[in-house]
Amino acid sequence: MAEKAACTTSNPLAQKLKLRLDEDQLTNCMRCGFCLPACPTFRETGIEAESPRGRIALMKAVADGIMAPDAAFEEQMNHCLGCRACEPACPADVKYGQLIEQARDAIEDHTDSHRGWVKLARRTAFKAVFPKQNRMKLLGGALGFYQRSGLQKITRGSGIMKLFPDHMREMEQILPESSSRGVIERIGSRHPAVGAKVATVGLFRGCLMDVMFTETNVHTVELLTQAGFEVVIPDTQNCCGALHAHSGEADGARSLARGNIRAFREAGVDYIVSNAGGCGAILTEYDHLLHEDAQWKDDAAWFAARVKDVSDLLVNFGRVPKFAERGRALTAGGPVAAGASAPQAADPAAQAEASAAVAGTPATAAAAGSTAAAPADIGAELAAIEDASVQPSAASAAAASAPASSVRITYQDSCHLRNVMRSSDAPRKLMRQVAGVEYVEMFEADRCCGSAGIYNLTQPEMANQILDHKMVHANATEARYLLTSNPGCLLQMKLGNERHGDGSMKVMHVVDFLHERLLGDR
Ligand code: SF4
Ligand code: SF4
Repeated sequence: MAEKAACTTSNPLAQKLKLRLDEDQLTNCMRCGFCLPACPTFRETGIEAESPRGRIALMKAVADGIMAPDAAFEEQMNHCLGCRACEPACPADVKYGQLIEQARDAIEDHTDSHRGWVKLARRTAFKAVFPKQNRMKLLGGALGFYQRSGLQKITRGSGIMKLFPDHMREMEQILPESSSRGVIERIGSRHPAVGAKVATVGLFRGCLMDVMFTETNVHTVELLTQAGFEVVIPDTQNCCGALHAHSGEADGARSLARGNIRAFREAGVDYIVSNAGGCGAILTEYDHLLHEDAQWKDDAAWFAARVKDVSDLLVNFGRVPKFAERGRALTAGGPVAAGASAPQAADPAAQAEASAAVAGTPATAAAAGSTAAAPADIGAELAAIEDASVQPSAASAAAASAPASSVRITYQDSCHLRNVMRSSDAPRKLMRQVAGVEYVEMFEADRCCGSAGIYNLTQPEMANQILDHKMVHANATEARYLLTSNPGCLLQMKLGNERHGDGSMKVMHVVDFLHERLLGDR
């Protein structure tokens, strides 16, 4: 690593940035601009400072003492989604994700002393709620009570929700049914492999994932056991620390990392499996997070090397289960795993699927882009790309070659799964293996949907702009199901579907979609 020159500025934030930012990474950037077309904030604004190259130049200018870090500097750092799409595009292998986390860590340290309610809210969330799974369960239980007791209806009817900003009001409407009973309470913590055992995997259950998407965790266990894995779920694991790391709370992230490493080390697993791209990515980076911790760095490397996404594990390490058409799968198996849910009777996508199968033709989805917002005018090049996306070429070509009764599905990549864990083929391979499915690739499926952890709450304007454009592409696929591999993306796409869809498309986690169609010894 290059030796840091003494900092000559008296600006305290500049001093912190100088200390934290990795000079090697800053100098590795050769200003080529290859990353610009991959960056969603640059594409939305066309402004250099909103690009990876621009942000790195700002960081370097501050670190070199050429520029003082003012409010505009902080704003540019906060506008970054942290989607890491710039990293695979970079020929110099600049670790942009590390730089932005270092910058935010310094900014957060600096501003922490003069914030009021923001400081309190952050401290509560990052120190008192996310790290304590029993408190997450209490939160899940309270939310579940609110949803099921009738309070939610009363609240909505009373108009109180109008006091909240639009994006929070909309988010409240799409929150999944929550519960205080996580995956262990539902099905236990040890599950034998079906047939010959391939390996033992430890399920990373997630903190929010386990109270809001418990079914997905249950379904993940069942897919894995069917693929030949013994699954253990260590109860002492905690939050992954992704939100902490991305929000400048590096110490909190490190503390959570140590807890998880200890839990999975003691469980004696061969792999650690995640079903949430956002969590999985930070788990694979525990080695970097703890590289300066002499006591933990070896264990962190052991842990990071074993982390896999569920799709990757199924496709590349297990015996891929057989997936049938939905109706067949539901009648072919025995009893489903404890806690697994029956299909929802009011599922509009399933109803449309059933009608289409009877009629022998796919149900008609919304005309491409007819209900979606028009793309913003951010230059001729981008407009041309947007225009290309709403041409029904992909959907038409797929329709011409697909069996008449097949169900059309599409996929939105999780940025962290794709750009950090570098896994984009495995979920697609699994989806294509399902009988009766016609997979259509969505234009720019690899581009961020605007969710990005809590970005859609902290930067709603940019998040909404990105989502509006994403939904143009989603609707152009005319898919019945839009699948994702991350709960944050799932909620964001649900939000987009509520705003711009016509009710014919259902947004689901890949795992839940596969589980509905699993043929096996259930
Ligand atoms: S992480 Fe995403 S939003 Fe941030 S600079 Fe890179 S590509 Fe742009
Ligand atoms: S692609 Fe890499 S080297 Fe080129 S400008 Fe972007 S970050 Fe710098």
